[in-house]
Amino acid sequence: MSSSVITDARARELRRDFPILAEQVHGEQLVYLDFGATAQRSTAVLDVERDFLEHRNAAVHRGAHELAALSTSDFEDARDTIARFIGADADEIAWQAGATDALNTVTLGIAAASRGRGGDESVPLRLGPGDEIVITEAEHHANLVPWQELALATGATLKWVPANDRGTWSIDDARAVVTEATKVIAFAHVSNVTGMIAPVEQLVELATSVGAITVLDACQSVPHRPVDFHALGVDFAAFSSHKMTGPNGLGVLYGRRERLAQLPPARTGGSMIEIVTMESTTFMDPPTRFEAGTQAVPQVIGLAAACRYLEGVGMAAIAEHEEALGALMVERLSALDGVTVIGDDASVPRSGLAAFIVDGVHSHDVSQFLDARGIAVRGGHHCAQPLHRRLGVTASTRASSYFTTTDDDIDALVSALGDVRAYFGADR
Ligand code: PMP
Repeated sequence: MSSSVITDARARELRRDFPILAEQVHGEQLVYLDFGATAQRSTAVLDVERDFLEHRNAAVHRGAHELAALSTSDFEDARDTIARFIGADADEIAWQAGATDALNTVTLGIAAASRGRGGDESVPLRLGPGDEIVITEAEHHANLVPWQELALATGATLKWVPANDRGTWSIDDARAVVTEATKVIAFAHVSNVTGMIAPVEQLVELATSVGAITVLDACQSVPHRPVDFHALGVDFAAFSSHKMTGPNGLGVLYGRRERLAQLPPARTGGSMIEIVTMESTTFMDPPTRFEAGTQAVPQVIGLAAACRYLEGVGMAAIAEHEEALGALMVERLSALDGVTVIGDDASVPRSGLAAFIVDGVHSHDVSQFLDARGIAVRGGHHCAQPLHRRLGVTASTRASSYFTTTDDDIDALVSALGDVRAYFGADR
């Protein structure tokens, strides 16, 4: 893995690998600062997908013809590449439609175990009245709503680590909520609103001390920093391909081997079965039993290409670059009159994103104003309504970076924002 520092010159050079970043919008050069919502595709990924579709495309794990053999071997090689990228074994990752889908596979699987599916092997995952599920008030809806549904389905109680006035929380806040009754602790590795980096090791230790499992929403970490699931010791994790320069429509469910073996499949059908009779069915071992139906083969191969590309850039270098950009955004945005950045101040390391509130101007107006200058950011609640409610607002504007982002991009953002309150008459 490369460890070279990403200078602005290097970021500009890497940007040339992403054709869309050269686009103009409204006659202005695009300044894309919405990587937290979706990253863009490099020619490396686009070329690999096209080459696969032109020369080897076939459904995998079925059919005796040559194309089927080629696509199956590409597909399983890709599984090896992606598993290595996240510090997992190949049989510990299952392809899903996205991170949201992967988190639902966990919650629906636990619901099934709680109904008695999966037999004796699934007993450790069973939940019922008296048991507690702990999340945080800062979660993305994808790591919140499925847990609400699971609590409703099982009679377990949903509790949460409260967010403070800045929208962040600490391990001590978590210790105050977790009890001997806690069976699951689910949380985001990196917050998509505050950029907070969760104390994963300490939470895993806390979970272990009460016999709870851990579920990590790794959507905003795997694309942006080196992540090793074995080293972190989490039980399950989920992330999306499209946020790490890979294709859309693909997510990854990671599960420690013994945990995946305990989880009943939430989706059933073709490709995940051993023996089917008219009365009943036996399922394949993980990960295949979590991959019902025809697989997203070009997307999986595209994601492997994305991982190789990211390894070439260097994940440690990406993390360092983005933490510097995160601190720069917090410093420069906070210095603007009437702008408040959500989250900790610049002295606390955060991922390369900043959500902020502009006094007197709704985030949709801020986003449109920036868009007119070619700057793409995200306005709204960022799928974190409870966190915004906790902070007393309905929405914020978020700028999120990647390794192609330069200081000039932040300059453009800050300079445009300097005019936004005057434009809407909010400075009077
Ligand atoms: N969790 C977090 C922290 C996210 O940022 C996102 C994407 N916005 C998700 C979960 C859901 O990912 P997806 O929409 O790709 O399923």
